[in-house]
Amino acid sequence: AGGLMAGKRGLIMGVANNRSIAWGIAKSCANQGAELAITYQGEAFRKRVGPLAEELGAHVAGHCDVTENESVDAVFEGLRQKWGKLDFLVHAIAFSDKEELDGRYVETSRENFQRTMDISVYSLTAIAKRAESLMTEGGSILTLTYYGAEKVMPHYNVMGVAKAALEASVRYLAVDLGGSGIRVNAVSAGPIKTLAASGIGDFRYILKWNEYNSPLKRTVTIEEVGDAGLYFLSDLSRGVTGEVHHVDSGYHVVGMKAVDAPDI
Ligand code: NAD
Repeated sequence: AGGLMAGKRGLIMGVANNRSIAWGIAKSCANQGAELAITYQGEAFRKRVGPLAEELGAHVAGHCDVTENESVDAVFEGLRQKWGKLDFLVHAIAFSDKEELDGRYVETSRENFQRTMDISVYSLTAIAKRAESLMTEGGSILTLTYYGAEKVMPHYNVMGVAKAALEASVRYLAVDLGGSGIRVNAVSAGPIKTLAASGIGDFRYILKWNEYNSPLKRTVTIEEVGDAGLYFLSDLSRGVTGEVHHVDSGYHVVGMKAVDAPDI
């Protein structure tokens, strides 16, 4: 089969269900001929991810909880045995206690701060290091971020601080891995109703606000984020690394509420 991704093999981390951003990216890559491996987090998600993987002819790469070194190592060891190399990697993983995705950032507990940073930030570095040894012919690593890294968004709180650190990690990793021909980029997606997003306080209000005030006057879909992801994971973006690219209907350029925006 032809396509932009023909001959490329990639690992997708972060599919929970068919609303996941990682699923949008997986579909775009598979449609262009990529061969995929998909991890799931825990037994509860195995039932969802199995049939989805089958839909794309993807390999189920097993359980992976990024807080457990053993499960991360097992996934990469499995890929080493199955493929011997890796061309691309999608990191679409974040977590914070939903109690703290509401109210004030200043109330953040040390425990949840550390857990949020571990799962949502350190995990990218941990998997990039393991991917490096498999990306013997160069490669592309993509993560997902949000505008709450750059500007204060209501209720995003500790996750905004984590995304700022994640975006800085993209730049440091881009330099560390650039010499091996491995590129590292992020897509900053506009708000999309997913399982993770449902933990954020007043998420419906955020969706409406973006719909009324973004230049395109609508929110984005996982398919649109998927196609932008395809650009970063394919050779089309071979000259690009360390980038944070907004796929948000242009919301990030707007400085103020639209004059004609309805009340929410
Ligand atoms: P989702 O709930 O579909 O995906 C989140 C994934 O993180 C799940 O697959 C979950 O299993 C995984 N995960 C959480 N803790 C983990 C752990 N300890 N080990 C392994 N995996 C773990 O939600 P989504 O919105 O598709 O989220 C994907 C990424 O996109 C996240 O980084 C999120 O912050 C980012 N993002 C989302 C939006 C949005 O509005 N939905 C906007 C911008 C960025």
